Amino acid sequence: MDSLPEVGPLTAKRIAQTLVFDAEKRENLIEALKEVGELRLCEKCRTISEDRLCHVCSDPEREMKIMVVLSPFDVFKVEDLGRYRGRYFVLYRLISVSEGVTPEDLPVEEFQRLVKEDGVEEVIFALPNDVRADITAHYLIEGLEGVRITKLPSGVPRGYGISSLDPYTLLEAIENRVPLDGDS
Ligand SMILES: [Zn+2]
Repeated sequence: MDSLPEVGPLTAKRIAQTLVFDAEKRENLIEALKEVGELRLCEKCRTISEDRLCHVCSDPEREMKIMVVLSPFDVFKVEDLGRYRGRYFVLYRLISVSEGVTPEDLPVEEFQRLVKEDGVEEVIFALPNDVRADITAHYLIEGLEGVRITKLPSGVPRGYGISSLDPYTLLEAIENRVPLDGDS
């Protein structure tokens, strides 16, 4: 983000951090980003990006894996580890009856198209460990075939995103991922 005078990586992180637990603020940010025009959402993974595609999606060396996360902050956090070589998909929200978020509010088609068109081999769910994430995951993968579906182990604290984990625990969680339906 070094070509943007006012939003450096630290500011971007701070913004994203504020948004992790606040669905309304996240929605507002998405709207604001669309209006600003300079900062936008990557057309593939929907993280915050200066260009049409973010640096991860435009890197041909990345593996055909997609890690599904809640916020751009999660992307920053995993990228900081420097070990994960796949791609991402940012949801910004989870299906939630109490928050009025329905499956129609989620980019299910966009996600499935991405998985099919790019020949993705594995989808890794790295969402907060709660029932909203479980429901959301099942909607996203409904009908997908021939793709390995995994999630981070249930040691990730319930209700919290992966960005609440310390780097060591996060790395361990990514390396020890389990089949989506394996331990729940
Ligand atoms: Zn991207």
